[in-house]
Amino acid sequence: MLAFLLALVLGGYWLGGEQMLIMGALGFPICLAFASVLTREPDTSRRDEVSLIGRDSFEEALHAAALSANRSSCRTGCVLIELDDYDKLLTRYGRAGTEHLMTSVMERLCGSVRGRDRISRLEDNLLAVSLAPMRRLDLGNALHIASRLQTTVEEPLVMDGATVYVSASVGLTLDSNVAVKSGAGLMDAASVALAEARRHGPSAMRVYSQEMHTPAVLCDIGLADEAIEALEAGQIHPWFQPQVSTDTGRISGFEALARWHHPKRGLISPLEFLPALEQSSQMGRLGEVILYHALSAMKSWDLAGLDVPQVGVNFAPEELRNPRLIKKIEWELDRFELAPSRLTIEILETVVASSPDDTVVRNIAALSKLGCQIDLDDFGTGHASISSLRRFDVQRLKIDRSFVMKVDRDPQQQRMVSAIITMAEQLGLETLAEGVETAGEHAMLGQLGCGYVQGFGIGRPMPLEDTLRWAEEYMAKIQPLPEIGRQTG
Ligand code: C2E
Ligand code: CA
Ligand code: CA
Repeated sequence: MLAFLLALVLGGYWLGGEQMLIMGALGFPICLAFASVLTREPDTSRRDEVSLIGRDSFEEALHAAALSANRSSCRTGCVLIELDDYDKLLTRYGRAGTEHLMTSVMERLCGSVRGRDRISRLEDNLLAVSLAPMRRLDLGNALHIASRLQTTVEEPLVMDGATVYVSASVGLTLDSNVAVKSGAGLMDAASVALAEARRHGPSAMRVYSQEMHTPAVLCDIGLADEAIEALEAGQIHPWFQPQVSTDTGRISGFEALARWHHPKRGLISPLEFLPALEQSSQMGRLGEVILYHALSAMKSWDLAGLDVPQVGVNFAPEELRNPRLIKKIEWELDRFELAPSRLTIEILETVVASSPDDTVVRNIAALSKLGCQIDLDDFGTGHASISSLRRFDVQRLKIDRSFVMKVDRDPQQQRMVSAIITMAEQLGLETLAEGVETAGEHAMLGQLGCGYVQGFGIGRPMPLEDTLRWAEEYMAKIQPLPEIGRQTG
């Protein structure tokens, strides 16, 4: 079109001189612009089409999609997307900051769905997408769409100049898998799939199947009662996740992480049952159970000749408020004939930062005096003051996973981790990075001077029975390193 226009203008100049040149150069574009205004279609921008709708409208839209799909041999589906660790985001960025973050997430999501899909924000951190009916929506296609949505939500965001990494769990259902093909039926099914994803989270995705349904829903209703019974019946005990030194590569300890072995539902994550135990004031009892198993695990590693310097146990605020805590721990250590230095107490940074009551302060100080190591968990998310690090006699900072993610590729993350490590060094504290998933992150953390690492990249939490085999394989892998050093040195 442009070449044609140029030719006409030049032709005009050739035939009619300067006047024709000016008329042609101005006249044609004006005519074109006018024509385009006349022929422009009404503005149906995608942003309007896929803007957020309320919960009720969403369920209606989903219901309409299910009916239409049923009539026209098409298929539809529902995707629920829940941001993981929402509480941590709130603590770190405050209500306004987190809301800003959610707005960006929702805007991106609106931009990434198809025109006739519908989106709703069902709860603070829960988004729902109804997939417009389509002919070739099989499981493969639906999974592809859901993964794309998850990737969109998980893309890093920039806030106040810093990069924020979020992850999301996803529950997906297709109308073909659901017995009751209604909006509510699809929503229920997607919620069951999401609950299953949450159990395997963070960043997990599950597709609804009818087998998931009954036990999950039945159990959620009486979860608190069931969890208390499970505690007494020995269904809740710890799995162990290794921690290693970045310097020597050697195992420096294991963290005990509670797991519920439900006879029907299988393995249940602590994120799901801890709130139920908290509500029914059973965290003290959970602590006793986990401590007992952690110390007996230590004893069995000693007997097997595996050098495990420490085992870490998470202590909830409720346990720390128990005035008899120290006596209990002393008694347990005595019973297993273990030195207090073999036990690490993990306390959340938020607990230390919230100026806890006198008993908590006294307990932490007494544990440290007894010789236990104090680790500050999820460091970087809880605003503990430097003076509180001293006051509580903290020995090690566990740098939260949100700072560790992509640390090998993101200079901003490197600066944050580096600042934490420098501060720790100045205060005479050790550091452990949590959630290390890749060899690149591991190597970068070592270079930045972080003393210890823990994460899926080193080893996932595992039952006690698997720890010896894991340790054997791990040691075999790191064995060549010192030998190379010896040969060249
Ligand atoms: P936490 O203490 O921060 O424990 C680390 C969590 O991160 C664990 O989740 C672990 O499985 C997960 N994790 C470890 N490495 C990686 C990684 O590389 N990538 C990712 N994405 N995740 C990783 P888990 O076992 O589900 O525990 C969740 C939280 O529940 C714990 O977070 C802790 O706060 C609490 N918890 C677990 N067991 C106990 C317990 O016995 N007592 C108390 N009070 N809290 C517990
Ligand atoms: Ca912990
Ligand atoms: Ca942690």
